[in-house]
Amino acid sequence: MGRHKQQKPRRPRGGNDPSAAEWFGTAFHSTEGMHHLDVRQWGNGILITSSPAEVDGVPAAWPLRLRNDDNGQGLDELGAALAAGRPHAIPVEKGPGFETALVFIPRYPDEGVGTLARVRTTEGPDADVVFEHRAERPMHLWAEAGENVRRIVPLLGPDAPPADELEDCQLCPGCYRPVYESSASHTLVGAGPVPVCGLCRLCAEGTTLRSLRQADVPIDPQQRAVLETVAAALV
Ligand SMILES: [Zn+2]
Repeated sequence: MGRHKQQKPRRPRGGNDPSAAEWFGTAFHSTEGMHHLDVRQWGNGILITSSPAEVDGVPAAWPLRLRNDDNGQGLDELGAALAAGRPHAIPVEKGPGFETALVFIPRYPDEGVGTLARVRTTEGPDADVVFEHRAERPMHLWAEAGENVRRIVPLLGPDAPPADELEDCQLCPGCYRPVYESSASHTLVGAGPVPVCGLCRLCAEGTTLRSLRQADVPIDPQQRAVLETVAAALV
């Protein structure tokens, strides 16, 4: 099994700008490459996107919408659990013979790695536990995400804009980070030999390629082609 590297890329800092309501972080995995986490305000709630994650057994981005139905208390508790590396569960659905819950499992499956998952538990003779969605990230990245959930919660409230529809998320072609239109780092780079539209700012600036070279982690050939095209354009 591969391992997570400790290095962290630079990222935008919150201030008096729209980025105050968002945060993202990236971990470098020795065999799987880049693992992203994105936390942002979503109307009167919070959206946590893991890219890639395992969604119904397939690698995909997992946008997790968390509503705020209790003055931020539930979200604050989740943020505190992530920040402290404590197990946490939020019931999602209960039906005849089954339950689904959102769970944070610290130090699983490895020391240093935690799992956020939507788990379906069935009772009875066919009792089973199925991870419907799951994302594994280093504990330090969950901790930062949790701190940022707690930072964003006070911005929420009944006056926040409604967000019934999930905002469209594009994966940055350079690093597969989820990029929302509201992302402060969203950018567009024009045509070239490879179409590189919708790059995140870190890729457009060449930061991603530099980080990858320093971390010495594998990269998908398509991502590499995009990043090298951008690097050539930057010269
Ligand atoms: Zn990118």
